[in-house]
Amino acid sequence: MEKILNKKHIDDWIAALDSWDILGPVLEDGIWAYQPVSGAVRLDHPNTRQSPKGLAFPQREIFFKFEQIKGEAPRLTQVVPDEQRHAVFGVRPCDGRGVPRMDLVFTDHVEDNYYQARRKNVAYVGLACNKPPGPNCFCLSVGGSPVSTDGLDVQMTDLGDRYFVKAVTETGKGLMTAAGKLFAEPSAADQKQVEQVHADAVAHPQRAVRNVEAVPAKLKASFKSPLWQELARACIGCGICTFLCPTCHCFDINDEVQSKAPLKGIRVRTWDNCQFPDFTMHSSGHNPRENTGARLRQRVAHKFQYFPENFGMPQCTGCGRCVSECPVGIDIVAVVNKVVENAG
Ligand code: SF4
Ligand code: SF4
Repeated sequence: MEKILNKKHIDDWIAALDSWDILGPVLEDGIWAYQPVSGAVRLDHPNTRQSPKGLAFPQREIFFKFEQIKGEAPRLTQVVPDEQRHAVFGVRPCDGRGVPRMDLVFTDHVEDNYYQARRKNVAYVGLACNKPPGPNCFCLSVGGSPVSTDGLDVQMTDLGDRYFVKAVTETGKGLMTAAGKLFAEPSAADQKQVEQVHADAVAHPQRAVRNVEAVPAKLKASFKSPLWQELARACIGCGICTFLCPTCHCFDINDEVQSKAPLKGIRVRTWDNCQFPDFTMHSSGHNPRENTGARLRQRVAHKFQYFPENFGMPQCTGCGRCVSECPVGIDIVAVVNKVVENAG
């Protein structure tokens, strides 16, 4: 389904989605973030500081509550994610491509019920990139595109005074038909314009991971390279790179005791981070990733070697956040290219 939506109707469309909670990009204190939309939605944003991954995989989520009363069997009460549906508007293509990667992780080997329960109630309404890429964007070199529809339910393309709106999934079709009378049929001129906008977007030069298909073998060959420690020397282990990444998904599970008599508490999942020194610390005190080099190697190899080996695609979507936001300037594109070059 492909339609035209006059820009003056975007808020009417959102209003028609009254059974959905709507999120959109909001600028607060100079930072773009997805927030509940109240009033007019703005879709003139660069990418948001955080990806929308937290909608299906929250930073902190309670699995169950526990209670142990002396002499009685322990009581466990599962906390089931609520069924509220969320539609997030303005998702850029790199973040859209994060969605199928997260879906693979949380359905591989084990169906993660908590992720699945949230994920089925999230719809991603994407916005194709039609401006020159940011200085750290590199989606094209990792198999993506500024106009990719991967992971999206709807793709919108800005045509000036109107949007070209394309349903990518049945969920997307439902979002559009909920406000069917607002949409018009695209003319031949609209079709031509959207093709041109997409062609122009793809033609903008970007940074690049060179020859991404050859990278897994080169990384494998570089496992013991001293270059890792050299490249990671400045890392302070803050974890910003992975917390902001649309595809990083490591987590920890802890029991938090809230009262001792009677014993009560909650089991909680929180995001964890392979760049933290104690992420792989054994109870013996041994740490198999004992320095920043080993931890940087893990982050890069997970994206560009292990994930491609397991799922046939890089885990990096080229959003550039880890490059832009690293406080010490560690740059994953430069790191991959350097290690590959060094491997010969
Ligand atoms: S953002 Fe930079 S300094 Fe922080 S953990 Fe990542 S690579 Fe290290
Ligand atoms: S590794 Fe960096 S550039 Fe790649 S998807 Fe994650 S945050 Fe974006």
